[in-house]
Amino acid sequence: MRLRIRIDSRVRILAIVALITINCMPYVGRVRRENLVRIAVECGVDAAVVTGVLGKGFCREYRVTPEGAFPLILGPKDGRVAVNGRNYRGGLEVRKIDGRLWVINVLDVESYLKGVVPCEIGGITEKELEAAKAQAVAARTYALAHSGQYSDLGFDLYATVQDQVYKGITCEREITSRAVESTAGEVLYYRGAPVEAKYHSTCGGRTADFNDAWAGAAPPYLSSVRCDYCRKSPHYRWTKVMTRDEFFTHLRHRLSRININLEEGELIHSFRMMRSRRSHRLKELILVTNKRELKIANYRIRTLFGEPDDPGGLLKSTCIYVKTKGDEVVIEGRGFGHGVGMCQFGSLEMATQGRHYRKILYHYYRGTRIKKVR
Ligand SMILES: [Zn+2]
Repeated sequence: MRLRIRIDSRVRILAIVALITINCMPYVGRVRRENLVRIAVECGVDAAVVTGVLGKGFCREYRVTPEGAFPLILGPKDGRVAVNGRNYRGGLEVRKIDGRLWVINVLDVESYLKGVVPCEIGGITEKELEAAKAQAVAARTYALAHSGQYSDLGFDLYATVQDQVYKGITCEREITSRAVESTAGEVLYYRGAPVEAKYHSTCGGRTADFNDAWAGAAPPYLSSVRCDYCRKSPHYRWTKVMTRDEFFTHLRHRLSRININLEEGELIHSFRMMRSRRSHRLKELILVTNKRELKIANYRIRTLFGEPDDPGGLLKSTCIYVKTKGDEVVIEGRGFGHGVGMCQFGSLEMATQGRHYRKILYHYYRGTRIKKVR
């Protein structure tokens, strides 16, 4: 009896795997063959207005709600489709997941990058073109390394900071499109595999080691390097001032965001900061209460100190020095972002000083090499 149940469930699992494989095969094949990426441009919404060509019909606008039949696949007219008034290259696939709609833009990688690089690097001048090329290679590498990460949901990348900011044709600029075209197919490799091309706004003088921001195995090319180039960034140095009361009240309230709850009558009365040897970023924060010591790892510190007016509710960086002056607590900070990999303000300055994009990339990602993949 036990044996029969085991065989039955194995057959059922195999049948499900076979069904998933049959459903995905043509699509996965097409994605690989044509270098397509699938970008989630609307996630879990109740309705969307999409424009494109259904089957062999005319191009028209559809207001879609979860009551319809899915997936809905729309092709482009003159190479473009639209979602809620925003234009994108390639086609669209509208899926229903857990009763809500997900709109996925399917397009070739190079077109995708034209809608990413200007969003990630901002407005640039001709002098900064090499920085845009470095950004294009980093963004292409990121897309390749993360392709298929949400396959169970039917897409590869989010169109937000969760992956890379992508706004379609609306965001494209002539200069950044030129940077994408002149580096077409170029990807950053380390020992035969595409790298984890992390980048951030401003390092503040020295980039971070991978483990200054995240736990887990640290890739050797994401090691802290000196950066003398981001001094012109508005985030190079910054200060945040609070009263002592505000500081401790803020800490008490925010601890629950990182799943730490103070016990009844437990009060924080002091703290200690442990720093990373190379980047001087906070490695660990130790809060001392009247009952215990709470150890908070580096990657949770930005959430803990962040306020609603900070981007994403995160503190700008973990490279901070906290000083108390009478009733005031002064946080003196350096840089903006996780600090790992390429410093974007640094890259802009290196380009302005005449550095080639390969030099920029090799400075921030040590030991890597660029390869043309197609
Ligand atoms: Zn820098």
